[in-house]
Amino acid sequence: MVHDTQVLVVGAGPTGLMLAAELALRGVSCRVLEQRAEESNLTRAFGVHARTLEQLDMRGLADDLLPRGIQVDEVRPTFGRRSVRLPMRHPESRFPYVLIVPQARTEALLAERVRSAGVRVERGAKVVALDDDGRGVTVTIEDDSGTRTERAGYVVGCDGAHSSVRRCMGVGFSGAAYDTDILLADLRLAGADARAVRTYVGRDGVVLMPPFGDGWVRAVIWDRRHRDVPLDEPLGVAEVTESLNRLAGRDLGVTEMRWSTRFRNQRRQADHYRRGRVFLAGDAAHVHSPLGALGMNTGIQDAVNLGWKLAAAVHGHAAPWLLDSYHAERHPVGAAALRLTDLLQRISVAPAPVRAIRPFAARGMLAVRPISDTLRRRVAGLSIAYPPRDPRHAHAWEGRRVPDARLSAGRLYQALRDGRFLLVRRTGTPAPDPAAWAGRLAAAETSDTAFPALTLVRPDGYAAWAGDDPDSARAAVTGWCGSPAPEMRS
Ligand SMILES: Cc1cc2nc3c(=O)[nH]c(=O)nc-3n(C[C@H](O)[C@H](O)[C@H](O)COP(=O)(O)OP(=O)(O)OC[C@H]3O[C@@H](n4cnc5c(N)ncnc54)[C@H](O)[C@@H]3O)c2cc1C
Repeated sequence: MVHDTQVLVVGAGPTGLMLAAELALRGVSCRVLEQRAEESNLTRAFGVHARTLEQLDMRGLADDLLPRGIQVDEVRPTFGRRSVRLPMRHPESRFPYVLIVPQARTEALLAERVRSAGVRVERGAKVVALDDDGRGVTVTIEDDSGTRTERAGYVVGCDGAHSSVRRCMGVGFSGAAYDTDILLADLRLAGADARAVRTYVGRDGVVLMPPFGDGWVRAVIWDRRHRDVPLDEPLGVAEVTESLNRLAGRDLGVTEMRWSTRFRNQRRQADHYRRGRVFLAGDAAHVHSPLGALGMNTGIQDAVNLGWKLAAAVHGHAAPWLLDSYHAERHPVGAAALRLTDLLQRISVAPAPVRAIRPFAARGMLAVRPISDTLRRRVAGLSIAYPPRDPRHAHAWEGRRVPDARLSAGRLYQALRDGRFLLVRRTGTPAPDPAAWAGRLAAAETSDTAFPALTLVRPDGYAAWAGDDPDSARAAVTGWCGSPAPEMRS
């Protein structure tokens, strides 16, 4: 069946833009519908973690993002006069830090990629209803000229926490709101170090202060004393300054405020990421406390997981299980982000008995290398792995993040830039000819002895299959990439 558009992406936040770029890379006709008439310059996220940078590197985007931000190699919350260090130096990654970059700059980079790929972002277009009849989706859109309908093969709701797509799918958003809202304010501080991310944990809550890099800092404040203030009550500089100084335990020297707001802090997750031809990604699928800086990172990674799967379905190469693997793989990752951020939230805004032991417990735990390493890798997304297809016969690498090894030409993540699967053979190992899967599979060679003899790498940088037998490799490629071209079947 021919549709107006093969995939309609709803929402032009970081998740929707990344997804549109992924689809366009594979020749899928897609459009992005965005209810806002103008591009957003509201920055929420600042922290871009190593795994997201790695996936951006797999599309040639990381090197353009790096100069737009600041590299921070440790997080150092201060509890009164004591501080605790969580190193973010990742020896296993080309990006051994957290990149502190305002969300608007990340979105601008993704929007440039989407534009240059020829994808139209239609602004002032709000999706209000969906009807999936099993062969396609009829989408009802409101814009300046009224209400119209359109047909699409698939629809992806990247439309944020209050997702209309999720509502139209009838999918639950299980969870609850925290009773401490977040205060956000853009400030100038006397004598502030423009390159440091300051974090203070006080009796009543916590403050994070990432820098914009131009002399302004964003204060993100959780203050138990501000529990019962209505969200629409204006937030003035006096209230921000009082809260900030009390939590930091000293005068931070606020000289100017240009913007402020109150924000509802919630932990919720969609019960299903897929229903028929409609999918959810990003904040539409999961929202949680900003502590840990996981929201946008998880959303971008949802998009990188879903893009190649949807493209395979559109082009008719997808195995019957492939689209369902999106929920199976990404729902647990979203749930883990909720658990981790919930823990950080509860520790940060803790009642009195926990408050007293926090600095000692944090320092004691972080001094234990396996604990601090586990936390570092989880926050950075480096330990994310997916269940192998057949756990009984799976090689240990299957489902795991594949490192950015040196290849006989260039690096592995560079070799993924055209969005295809990659069959990596260790020097000297016979391998199937990728020409049989032209446009879907590329081949590469490494002399890295840590690698299995043959590794089939997915377009998102995880191992689909590993082993040493070329016939099994051929079967694995067919399972993941679809049948070889007819003239190449043997
Ligand atoms: C204070 C704060 C700090 C944060 N810090 C971090 C951080 O450091 N790192 C991190 O990873 N994350 C962080 N986050 C979370 C991060 O900002 C979000 O996870 C991220 O913006 C989600 O991106 P998204 O594209 O999924 O959704 P959104 O950015 O919400 O974009 C959704 C888009 O959909 C559009 N839309 C909505 N409904 C419709 C409709 N019906 N039709 C058409 N368009 C529609 C909206 O206008 C919007 O443009 C933070 C959040 C907060 C509140």
